[in-house]
Amino acid sequence: MEKISVIVPCYNEEEAIPLFYQEIKRVRGLMPDYAFEIILVDDGSKDKTVELMRDLAAQDEEIRYISFSRNFGKEAAMYAGLKNAVGDYVVIMDVDLQDPPALLPEMVRSIKEEGYDSVATRRVDRKGEPPIRSFFARRFYRLMNRISKTEMTDGARDYRLMSRQFVDSLMELCEYNRFSKGLFGWVGYKTKWIPYENTERVAGETKWSFWKLLKYSIDGIVAFSTAPLSIAMVMGFLFAFLAFLMVIFIVVRTAIFGDPVSGWPSTVCLILFVGGIQLICTGILGTYLSKTYLEVKQRPIYIAKETNIAKTEEKGKDKV
Ligand code: UDP
Ligand code: MG
Repeated sequence: MEKISVIVPCYNEEEAIPLFYQEIKRVRGLMPDYAFEIILVDDGSKDKTVELMRDLAAQDEEIRYISFSRNFGKEAAMYAGLKNAVGDYVVIMDVDLQDPPALLPEMVRSIKEEGYDSVATRRVDRKGEPPIRSFFARRFYRLMNRISKTEMTDGARDYRLMSRQFVDSLMELCEYNRFSKGLFGWVGYKTKWIPYENTERVAGETKWSFWKLLKYSIDGIVAFSTAPLSIAMVMGFLFAFLAFLMVIFIVVRTAIFGDPVSGWPSTVCLILFVGGIQLICTGILGTYLSKTYLEVKQRPIYIAKETNIAKTEEKGKDKV
């Protein structure tokens, strides 16, 4: 019997977990031909999330859980799930039911019968999201697709069903700075996109603040594009060229009109402007350097404090 692994990252989700459990069990019931494992990953929650997971695991043998020693972020939670999943098909979904489990039978069918390697979901609207957030999200995807070779789809969710082969390929990318939306695209394969309408969270609230998202998008750019480095270099050339033109201009002007003492405000402005550009370029360099530094240190992506997955199965503590 083929097995489906469901990976569910949870961070402070005590309200959503019972509702999610009910729904996934209902959908699971519709697919009796498959074995299931539901891997709940607690990303260092401060509420009763782990207790709930422990209780569920005690009464339901399809429930596996991993609890992190602190909050490592959703990317780390997804990685832990993928690393520990043993299913022939692996799906990642949010616990807040914004990724409707009801789509699962259709997704499995697409891989089995239509020959896709992965089935991903895409929101067709951003209803219920603050307009500023939607605006910047759209800009981000447009920019990303321009400066990176890896394709990223606007509105793509992390809700995705993958074949075993797809997951194995994904696991070969063991980078520390993980940006899954890019990694999914990078590994390639044939992906089917299922559009659906955005739904609001069933309980609890979103864990993403505007700043967290901004930081995440910078991580994405740094992980999948080196364009900012080239832009910094082009900017350097441009300014050097401009300075060269100005030197010629000043020399000629002095030769014709002499050199009255004037123009210091413009000099100060120029110094400030060029100084600013230099700082920006240093910042860009620094960002790449810091990511490289973190990568080189080879720290584990997450640390599991507690789990009911047998040690032989658990490979998550492997250094990457
Ligand atoms: N999440 C997580 N770690 C975090 C933040 C979020 O594991 O640091 C989980 C969260 O519990 C949820 C999923 O990631 O299952 C998506 O989070 P959320 O619903 O807050 O994001 P949104 O749907 O608003 O993009
Ligand atoms: Mg959500």
